[in-house]
Amino acid sequence: MIPHTIPTWQHKSWQEQLTNQITKPADLLSRLSLDNQWLPAAERAAALFPLRVSEAFVSRMRPGDPNDPLLLQVLPLEQEFAVTPGYSEDPLEEEKSNPAPGLIHKYHGRVLLIAAPHCAINCRYCFRRHFDYRQNTPSRTEWQAALAYIKTRPEIDEVILSGGDPLMLGDKQLRWLLTEIDAIPHITRIRIHSRLPVVLPDRFTSTLLELLSSARAQMVVVAHCNHSQEIDQSVEAVFEALKQAGITLLNQTVLLKNINDSANILIELSKRLFQSGVLPYYLHLLDRVSGTAHYEVDELDARRLREELLAQLPGYLVPTLVKEEPGAPSKTPIR
Ligand code: SF4
Repeated sequence: MIPHTIPTWQHKSWQEQLTNQITKPADLLSRLSLDNQWLPAAERAAALFPLRVSEAFVSRMRPGDPNDPLLLQVLPLEQEFAVTPGYSEDPLEEEKSNPAPGLIHKYHGRVLLIAAPHCAINCRYCFRRHFDYRQNTPSRTEWQAALAYIKTRPEIDEVILSGGDPLMLGDKQLRWLLTEIDAIPHITRIRIHSRLPVVLPDRFTSTLLELLSSARAQMVVVAHCNHSQEIDQSVEAVFEALKQAGITLLNQTVLLKNINDSANILIELSKRLFQSGVLPYYLHLLDRVSGTAHYEVDELDARRLREELLAQLPGYLVPTLVKEEPGAPSKTPIR
């Protein structure tokens, strides 16, 4: 019998895991025993938007399968060079709703603060793949301007921390920021959008859990999981720990062609999330950002999928199908 060995990355801290991420297409292909035929295109497309993926996420991919649904979310492809009408670098026109560096105020009652510029993964379909993070890389001075904006607007009762991924901040910075937000009396909810429960489960240390559970405001974590294969025991343990810490857990999924555009896959995902204490919240149509058209599922097919989910699942397991439209007062539900 072959003795079971623990991969070396599992002995590392979350910071070390970030330092040792896979960023070279050749390393990713070799790690998955895949042929080098995809290498030239992957290297070219990685120049548009770098490859970045954690060992934890790669460990859930199927070796030898070029169609693995997790691999297809991170492998740079030739199609990213396609110029498609209707696709742009800022499809949501966020730069028009950017009153202070790092702050996006699009919707009534809530603001989105870009707390950290980077992610522990570069999803190829990312709607912020062209966003100017250099202009929106936060520092305390910039956060002060954003906090001042929020303090003078009592109609804002929710701050959404986004990114990049807000939990890429170190504990010290995160503590400072959360404490400042929590001290604003009219803020009653702090929502954290993070892919780290799935991509870097070891980020959820006891210090982070204590930090998240100690806020006065209600804390909501919205995970981003697109396929049930993304959820293994380590991810379930994070969800359980967050639940035990009294945090409300929701999930958002992006509907992606050849990755999760089937009723069975979405049903399995909803069930798996709920078993882990997470409510399926949104199923997003792709934002039309340049270089991502090959991921788009058209609206008619998305509606059909939603009908199938409604026919086969209780309503609370069916995420709301939405798209984002520039200038709209909220996400637009699709019925
Ligand atoms: S986790 Fe979200 S913000 Fe980060 S690369 Fe993926 S889609 Fe973009």
